[in-house]
Amino acid sequence: MSGLKRNLRQLTRGQLEQWLKEQGEPAYRAGQIQEWLWQKGAVSFSEMSNVPMKLRQKLAEQFLFAPLSINQRQQSRDQTIKLRFVTHEGFRIEGVLIFSEGRVTACVSSQVGCSLTCAFCATGRMGRQRNLSSDEIVEQVLLLRKEALQAAGTSLTNVVYMGMGEPLLNYREVVRSLEMLTAPDGLALSPRRITVSTAGIAKLMRRLADDGVRVRLALSLHATTDEQRNRIMPINEENQLESLIAALRYYHERSGSRISLEYILFAGFNDTMEDARRLLKLARQLPGVHVNLIEYNEVPGLSFRGSDAVTVKRFQEFLERYGIAATVRHSRGRDIDAACGQLANRGMKEQR
Ligand code: SF4
Repeated sequence: MSGLKRNLRQLTRGQLEQWLKEQGEPAYRAGQIQEWLWQKGAVSFSEMSNVPMKLRQKLAEQFLFAPLSINQRQQSRDQTIKLRFVTHEGFRIEGVLIFSEGRVTACVSSQVGCSLTCAFCATGRMGRQRNLSSDEIVEQVLLLRKEALQAAGTSLTNVVYMGMGEPLLNYREVVRSLEMLTAPDGLALSPRRITVSTAGIAKLMRRLADDGVRVRLALSLHATTDEQRNRIMPINEENQLESLIAALRYYHERSGSRISLEYILFAGFNDTMEDARRLLKLARQLPGVHVNLIEYNEVPGLSFRGSDAVTVKRFQEFLERYGIAATVRHSRGRDIDAACGQLANRGMKEQR
C-alpha cells in the first residue's frame, strides 16, 4: 500500500529541484528524473539507470510511482489494442489504443464505472465505483504510449477522454490531468490534440471555459429531440438540448477551441432523414462544429443495434451537402470487447 506518498509525476520541475536541494543533490538530476518519467516512460524507480542508487532509494521512500498495473491486453485484427488496468485496490478500468489515418489515439477512462446509466452503454450498467485520480488518468496515457511505441514504434498523436465514466463528474482530477498532459515539463501534448467527451452537463461545460481549459470539447449527442434523448440518456432530463448547445457554443467562444458533436447511429431509433435534418439544425447553431457519426459497437444483452453503412453514409452526405463537416467513425476492435466498458465489465464479473 502506498500510504500517503505523493506521485512523483505531480511535482513540477521547480518542486523537484527544491526537493533535490533538500536532499543535498544537484539540480540537474531533476532533468534526468523527468526524462525517465515523461520521455522514457519508466514504470519503476529501478529503471532510472543514470540516477544514483541512493537517490533512487530516497525517491522510492517518499514518492509513489505507477499507480496502475496492466492486467490484460487484447489486440484486435484492426490493430486496436485494449488494456485492462487494475488500481491499487483492485478496481478494473480500461484504456484503448487506436491506430487510424496516421493518428495514434489513446482513449482513457476518467472513473471506475459510471453513474449516468446511458441505455446503450456497458459501463453505465456497472454503476460508479469511484473517481480516478489525475495520476491514474495520466498513467493510462503513459502506459498506452508505451504500448504504441512497442507495437508500432510511434508515440501518441491524440488523447481522448472517451473511456469509462463521465469526465465532468470528476471535474477537478480531470482538469488536473489535462494540466499534467499539457505541461511543458510533463508530457507537453498540445491541447488541440486532446478531446474531452461529455454526455452533457451544461454548467460544467461552461465552467471548463471559465477555468481556462483549452482542449477540444465533444458532446455525446446521440439524439435530436429532448424526448428522444431522455429515453437513452437520463442526464438529459436536467440538461436539455437547448442548454447543452448554448454551453458548447459558450465553450467555443470563450476558449477558441474546437468543438464536436458525437452521434451514434442506432437502427430504427435515431437514423431517419427527419433525425438528420434536426441534427443539421442543431449543428448549424455551433460555429466550426465537427460531427462524428459513430458506428455502434453492440453490447451483449442490450437491444440496440447499429445502423447499416448505407444509412450512416447518407447522414454524412446530407450534413456535408449543407456545409457541416462530418466524419464516419468506424467501430474499432469489434473482435475484442471494444464497446465502452466491456472489457472492464467482464473483469468485474470474473472478479466477483
Ligand atoms: S456512455 Fe459515457 S456517460 Fe453514458 S453511461 Fe456510458 S460511460 Fe457513462
